[in-house]
Formats: sequence, structure tokens, C-alpha cells
Amino acid sequence: VVDIAPYIEAHRDRFLRELFALVAQPSISARGEGLAECATLLHGMMEEAGIRARILPTRTAPAVYGEVGADPVAPTVLVYGHYDVQPPEPLDAWDSPPFVPTLRNGRIYGRGTGDNKGQHLAHIKAIEVMLQTRGRVPVNIKLLIDGEEEIGSPSLADLVVEHRDLLRADLMYAADGPMHESGRPLVFLGLRGVLYLELTARGANRDVHSGQSDLIPNAAWRLVRALHSMKDADDRILIEGFYEDVLPPTPVERDLLASVPLDEVAWCRELGLRGLGGQKGLRPQERLMFSPSMNISGLESGYTQPGAMTVIPSKATAKLDIYLVKNQRPEAILEKVRAHLRHHGWGDIEMKVLFSFPPSKTPPDHPLVQVVLRGVEQAFGERPIVYPTLGGYAANYVFTDLLGIPAVWVPYAQPDENNHAPNENLRVDHFFRGIQATVRVLDELGRRERS
Ligand SMILES: [Zn+2]
Repeated sequence: VVDIAPYIEAHRDRFLRELFALVAQPSISARGEGLAECATLLHGMMEEAGIRARILPTRTAPAVYGEVGADPVAPTVLVYGHYDVQPPEPLDAWDSPPFVPTLRNGRIYGRGTGDNKGQHLAHIKAIEVMLQTRGRVPVNIKLLIDGEEEIGSPSLADLVVEHRDLLRADLMYAADGPMHESGRPLVFLGLRGVLYLELTARGANRDVHSGQSDLIPNAAWRLVRALHSMKDADDRILIEGFYEDVLPPTPVERDLLASVPLDEVAWCRELGLRGLGGQKGLRPQERLMFSPSMNISGLESGYTQPGAMTVIPSKATAKLDIYLVKNQRPEAILEKVRAHLRHHGWGDIEMKVLFSFPPSKTPPDHPLVQVVLRGVEQAFGERPIVYPTLGGYAANYVFTDLLGIPAVWVPYAQPDENNHAPNENLRVDHFFRGIQATVRVLDELGRRERS
């Protein structure tokens, strides 16, 4: 965008300094570390950018909210991001300390640079740039910067319900995650849901010498058999009615799926695998986005230290993550898992829900999605790859279901941002292109009258 380029150029160093300041403030939601401090810092930066900002307290980490523009005919865009970060461990794997932002080879290294401070700061700077160069923004903007995304946004749904009027908008727009590994721009329109369970089988009231294993029931075997009853060798989930509510892709989504590149061979080579797993009969893209899965994330029982110990474990635990697709609901799936265990004689196995989200997605043919795609194409100079949904999960349903608006995600960070890993980084040119991209997308949306 020609008119804003000189301003960005003139304020380049300050923009980077602000990003450095944000990254230098640890904000680790998993440990409740530095969250209020980071929220305050961000609040100040928003105000300085010309955004009317306030802090929205929740029962856990505060969210930061901001508003610009109040044009009754312009559309309102809710811009979402998160200021919390993953824990930085293992510390010795970092080439520079995680909370000392460091510039090397055109990249800023530090925890939270890409995920997500650099990406939501790009929105804030885009707003500043538009206000300073044009005196106005093309749409009404509401910013919501979450302080606990990395721990599954436990308060976001309540926050959104409590502030439903404040957050009313026509579209949710967010920049998070890395662009496509090919370097092409990426847009994703939804996420799968998840039901995370912890199953516990119990035997005797304490571990017993395994010389008596023909008499004493073994909790590990019991759990393994129960797990085995839930999935067959072709990765088909055997829980009665599990696939009942699965919605197949629409024709438009099917077209998008066909255009999603996935290099099976390269992927296997990189991971040292002979082949991909998962249900037969579905293309990998379809398995990833339109099919539910059940994964054992952890399994623990008995003696697991080096060397031998002969023991009958009294307790066995499995962490099970079940990814859900439209229209599966976590509560209904939980009931089905429970019924399955009961019906097959495993009713004594204890089950705890650690967390859950329903799946959520926005139809690709929604008119506002098309407008965003145009803006992204202009900003990046090529057509984005569009994922109807990601394989991962997030609290996207708070936007699509609780607020009832389309939700579009456009990652600005480069594919090797190392999010959640040591040496997380954001390329400086991606940060500045992110600012340009936000301006482009909002300009495109501003050309539309409110529907
Ligand atoms: Zn993250």
C-alpha cells in the first residue's frame, strides 16, 4: 500500500523496539508468570497507537481489549491475538536467552516473537499507521488479546459471553501460527475440536510381587485391553456411534482439499517413517481435516526406570486425545466413550475430562471470507493456500458459535518460526509484511458496506 510505506519506513526502528519490549516481558500462562505486567505493557502500547484500550479481567489472566472507529455503516472486525507464551524450557537449547530478544540474520529470536506477540503487534502497528497517515481506519476495529491461549483459553468463552455486546462484530480476523511450509501464504477457516481424557484402571490397593500375577489382576493389562477395544488395526475407532455426526466436506471444501499440497514422501523422510498412519480409504488431507482421531498421548504404569523389577502394577493411566470434526460434540462423544467402556465390561475404569472444545469452521464461500482472501492475495503477491480447517484445535467456536461470526486465520510468521520450541523467531521482513497485510485486508473489508 503506497501511502503508508514512508511512515512505516520512518518508524521502523521504533516498531522493532516495541516488539523487543513486548518479548522481553515474560508472560507464561502455564505458570501464571508476568501476565498482568504484559497486559499492562500491551494496554499502554495500544493507547499510544491511538486505540481506546482497557483491560478485561477474567478469573485467570486478564485480556486486553481495544477499539478504533465507530462508523455505523462500516463493517466491524474483531481482531484476535494472544500475549501469553509457552514456557521457554529447555533453556540450554536456546542460542540467546528466550526473554532477551536478539536480532540475528534478519530474524528476531525470543519466546513469543512469532507466537504471538509479533503477529498481533503487526495489527496494532497497522492501526497506528492508518491513523497517522490517513486519520482514520477503513473499518471499525475491536481488538481482543487473550492472556491464556497457550493453556487452552479457559476463560475466553465466559469472557465472550459476558461482553457479548462489546465484542459484537461482523468478522473475526487473527494472525497466528506459521505460513505454509512452501512459503506460500496460508489461510485457515476452522479448527477441529478436542476431548482430552485421562483413563485410570486400578487393580489391588498396592503393587504386588509378580510371582502372584496368575492370582492378582493387573491394572496395566486391563487398561491396555480397554484401549485396544476402542480402535482397530486400520485406525478405525470402534466406539459405537462415534462417526454418527461426522459431516463430510461440502463440494467447495472438497475443491479446497484437492488444492492443499501435502508431500507424503518428504514428510515421512523427515520423520524417519516408512509411511503415514491413519484410517484407510481417505486422502491424508481429508483424514487431517474432516475425520476425527483418537490418540494416546501418554501411557503410564508399573516400573519404568532402567533395569528390571518384577511387579504387578496396581494402577495404569492413559492420556487420550480425541480430535473432533463437525458436527461431533464433546459431551456426546464423552457419553459414547463411557457407554462403550461400560458395555464391554470396563465400567470400573475411571475417566476424567482434562479439557474439551467443540470443532468450529467458517464456510469458504462466505462473502467476507472471499474479501479477506482478496486482501491476502494482494498483500503477499500470490494466491493463498486455503485450509477449510486445521488438524489442530483451538477455541475458535467462541467466535463462530458464541458470537455467531465468520472467523478467518491468516498466519504472518514464516514456516520455521519454531513456535513452542527453542530459538523461536520471527523474520523482520515478515513482521513488516504483516503490518502491510493487515492494512490491505482491512482496506478490502472497508470497501464493503455492512451487511
Ligand atoms: Zn502457541
